[in-house]
Amino acid sequence: CGIVGYVGTERDAIDVLLDGLSGLEYRGYDSAGVALASDPLDVYKREGELSALESAVPVKDLRGPACGIGHTRWSTHGPPSDRNAHPHADESNRVAVVHNGIIENYQSLRDELSADGVAFTSETDTEVVPHLIGRALEEGRSPEAAFRAAIDRIEGSYAIAAVFADSDAIYATRQASPLVLGVGDDGYHLASDAPAFVEYTDRVVYLEDGQFARLEPDAIAVTDANGTPVETTVETLEWDA
Ligand code: GLU
Repeated sequence: CGIVGYVGTERDAIDVLLDGLSGLEYRGYDSAGVALASDPLDVYKREGELSALESAVPVKDLRGPACGIGHTRWSTHGPPSDRNAHPHADESNRVAVVHNGIIENYQSLRDELSADGVAFTSETDTEVVPHLIGRALEEGRSPEAAFRAAIDRIEGSYAIAAVFADSDAIYATRQASPLVLGVGDDGYHLASDAPAFVEYTDRVVYLEDGQFARLEPDAIAVTDANGTPVETTVETLEWDA
């Protein structure tokens, strides 16, 4: 039900992500999780309150990796559980994905991937996405091309963000589900709603349906479905504290 992301140079991503998830609590959730783009990926997720996740995350050991994503889940496919909580990873643990919304054609994709030998670990509609990305990576595609190839296959409503084990970047897109980028002094934020990062920045770029964003420590790039760069406007939030 909520997505957060951070990539930057000064702060530890784990702190920004946990802060961001509490900023999204008001939306309601039944589980929560985070993934850090270290190599190998660090993924932690728990059913229940954020405090359950916070006790599971070894924050001290995670200082350093400055790129990650987080999620609060309001389950639609698969009951609340640790396994069904996001992020979801591919079989070789090279990509982790968070998703808000519903993937309408997940069953046929799941059947196709299962026939290909993929072993699913959750009952979510979401898990087809990391496996589609993983398959495209195996075919030799770059993280960005693999992300686009996977999104090309899915139908429904979604805000999706992904991090890769070997890359300091967040890839994201949306369709009928909100996603906003935050422009900070020391990095870039991503969230389904600005309260997730308003303590860090009030400068935002609203992503539109069908657009893709790549967030790196020192740059963001927004493109359309064909990969053509889109000009973005940075707006300042009117915030009544
Ligand atoms: N459909 C996904 C699930 O059930 C995402 C739900 C959400 O938006 O939190 O896991």
